[in-house]
Amino acid sequence: MTLILDGKKLAQTMQAEIAVGVADFVRKHGFAPGLAAVLVGEDAASQVYVRNKRKACENVGIQSWLHALPVDTTQDALLHLIAQLNTDTNVSGILVQLSLPRQIDESVIVDAVAPLKDVDGFSPMSLGLMMSGQPRFFPCTPYGVQQILVRNGIAIDGKHIVIVGRSNIVGKPLAMLLMQKADGANATVTVCHSRSRDIGVLTRQADIVVVAIGKERFLKCDMIKPGAVVVDVGINRTAEGKLVGDVDFDAVKKVASAITPVPGGIGPMTITMLLQNTLRAAILQHG
Ligand code: NDP
Repeated sequence: MTLILDGKKLAQTMQAEIAVGVADFVRKHGFAPGLAAVLVGEDAASQVYVRNKRKACENVGIQSWLHALPVDTTQDALLHLIAQLNTDTNVSGILVQLSLPRQIDESVIVDAVAPLKDVDGFSPMSLGLMMSGQPRFFPCTPYGVQQILVRNGIAIDGKHIVIVGRSNIVGKPLAMLLMQKADGANATVTVCHSRSRDIGVLTRQADIVVVAIGKERFLKCDMIKPGAVVVDVGINRTAEGKLVGDVDFDAVKKVASAITPVPGGIGPMTITMLLQNTLRAAILQHG
């Protein structure tokens, strides 16, 4: 019987735990942790992501503010806003929704967020700390992947995990997280990408396969070994408008021992880890 790793349900459980942590923080400090969300332009998908993140904040008692800027915002204007948010003591975490319009260099903006408010975990400081084994904020999607495994009792220690995709926001930091010398990690990690040869040969060796490439139903059932655990990070919309992942779910689930669905897998976990990081940021700043 294949275990469906229900991210939606786990997200609810974890958000209830975070709400308890937020209430403790409020009792101690007399104000709630706060997330400033920055959205530049009117991309419909980004608007939905930001709305969902703010709604999740509200559910756990985290304050949130939306800074919606026009699409022609200059890099200097955005840097000015971030500098203000960096010094605002009500703001525990800053979320700059990517991607940004062409006139703005994303890496400059990500680097401008105060390290203690980097709840997305994308800044060179956060990534460097993780790289050197002293993590502060794990990027939300990799953190969500790790937590869905850990909280479902799937051992990571000593397991061979093959990650397909090496982006800066998913594949690369996930590899770094899973190879930490720490509980809930200690994996042997292989990372593949668009230049990798014979990806099936690699994924068939894995105890756990994670796919994050943005290619509809890429992972087929003959690309895993029987009993492997499969985590699908991808979000793709089919020609018929259906949301599907990077895994051929119906076929792969017959071979896997556990699998995440799309939707309802890593998506809700990503949002939950943002809340977790925001609470952590508030505690780091205020005790
Ligand atoms: P990117 O486009 O930034 O990176 C894609 C990665 O996949 C690259 O490393 C690329 O290789 C690799 N790749 C592309 N095609 C192939 C292929 N045919 N074989 C092997 N590797 C390939 O994507 P993201 O990491 O941002 O996102 C990946 C997916 O995850 C998307 O569907 C996205 O929507 C989803 N996502 C979901 C989130 C969630 O909360 N559930 C959060 C973030 C992303 P190369 O480096 O060589 O170009």
